[in-house]
Amino acid sequence: MPNSTKYIFVTGGVSSSLGKGIISASLAKLLQSRGYCATIQKFDPYLNVDPGTMNPYEHGECYVTNDGAETDLDLGHYERFLNVPTSQANNVTTGRIYQTVINKEREGAYLGKTVQVIPHITDEIKRRMKLLGDSGNFDFVITELGGTVGDIESLPYVESVRQLKWELGGNSLVIHLTLVPYLSAAGELKTKPTQHSVKTLLEYGVQPDILVCRTERHLPQDLRKKIALFCNVTTNAVIESIDAESIYDVPILMMKEQLDKVVLSKLKLPLKQDPDLVNWKDFLGKLKNPVHEIDIAAVGKYIELKDAYKSISEAFIHAGVSNETKVNVKWISSESLTAENVADKLKGFSGILVAPGFGDRGIEGKIATVKFARENKIPFLGICLGMQCAVIEFGRNVLGLKDAHSTEMNPDTMNPVIALMEEQKKITAKGGTMRLGEFPCNLKKASKAASVYNKTAIKERHRHRYEFNNSYLSKYEDAGMTASGINPEGNFVEIVEIKDHPWFIGVQFHPEYKSTVESPHPLFVKFIKASLG
Ligand code: GLN
Repeated sequence: MPNSTKYIFVTGGVSSSLGKGIISASLAKLLQSRGYCATIQKFDPYLNVDPGTMNPYEHGECYVTNDGAETDLDLGHYERFLNVPTSQANNVTTGRIYQTVINKEREGAYLGKTVQVIPHITDEIKRRMKLLGDSGNFDFVITELGGTVGDIESLPYVESVRQLKWELGGNSLVIHLTLVPYLSAAGELKTKPTQHSVKTLLEYGVQPDILVCRTERHLPQDLRKKIALFCNVTTNAVIESIDAESIYDVPILMMKEQLDKVVLSKLKLPLKQDPDLVNWKDFLGKLKNPVHEIDIAAVGKYIELKDAYKSISEAFIHAGVSNETKVNVKWISSESLTAENVADKLKGFSGILVAPGFGDRGIEGKIATVKFARENKIPFLGICLGMQCAVIEFGRNVLGLKDAHSTEMNPDTMNPVIALMEEQKKITAKGGTMRLGEFPCNLKKASKAASVYNKTAIKERHRHRYEFNNSYLSKYEDAGMTASGINPEGNFVEIVEIKDHPWFIGVQFHPEYKSTVESPHPLFVKFIKASLG
């Protein structure tokens, strides 16, 4: 029922990177585990229409949804925690808001009026904040506001929350995430930054209902009382969020702090049942008590930033747990690898992954990595550009096509084994124009891929412009690299594998986006299993 949908807004203060995404996902998890239906959306204050055109160094990984939206990596956390797919509606940026309003202005929708931040931009923000709730599918819509309260960029969002709080009354709630730092010189936890941050929110007319306090040390009761007194919240609404060993601990920590109970009581909703977290706790138990341990080499070019390959790192954690294995992923810069040093640098790893990517930088290091894995029969998983590198390497070193390459890196190659997709040839604009989102793929019976998935029809998410050049297909298959997954509509090669190798699979799609705590991705699970073998 749309009328009974509750809206929870999560703002951040004092500092960025406090983990609003994880807190939002943890709260949603707890509500879900009590039998409620919750979704999470993120509003980002930057002017790009989506993060798809940004370098991973700017913004971390670009996460892709089933419906082909290029989104903030927090949506990955939402899916990994809730095991429910998100969509374009779950991520909105200032760029998209302004684009909509300006397009409407050009169409004449506001004829005669001055178009202004208030009410036109805030109306569009509010419309989008309520969009998922309007569907009537959710008991809770949790909206995470990117950025920090007080930023110029965040102002229209905070103003929209002020207006919505007024309009929605008892159906809304604001959670403010702040920092309570420990000053070692004073030997004390300090509440002043939190007080100031709440004052900033109050200046904009928003009174938070719950404060989630990130801290390195436990918050004693007197400190909670002090924060409550200064910030006009009840003492039980001052929630401690202590540093956790793993993001997957946070729902349990939030349950202990009774965040879900406080939310439900403030929204006058029944507790329904105790949180059913049996599977989650089982996952955590295995995560903390692994039976085996292995080292996996992951080769990519954005390795300095751990968020650049977030979904891959998380997929390894899920796959590790289902194999009761601690997976130590060592990220290696593709630029540091050459034909000469690769054997030395990749010595001792049980499995090798080549990561997705764009452009020429580090490409030869990735190709040398594939050759090493193929010749030494080390379990190999290539994702997107990683799969394309596997095809290039096989072309060069097995088929003898010395200049085999992707036309992305070498447009003049005589052997374009990876080439621009036909549908991409007329596209010039960069934003949102790749082959994006979920597409079907049929697996060859008796292939390794079919045995991994244990079925022959799958759907996976894509983000690329280039593909395997089918005019080389028979040569590859004759030499032992099979196309074991084909897109039925366009006849695109989506999976390659090598027959004469214990476990060598390259996939044009991104399995990492679909791996969740509840459903670890079979490709990662079986890759780890093969690496253990
Ligand atoms: N750059 C390659 C392409 O566009 C691979 C993309 C990727 O790895 N996501 O096809």
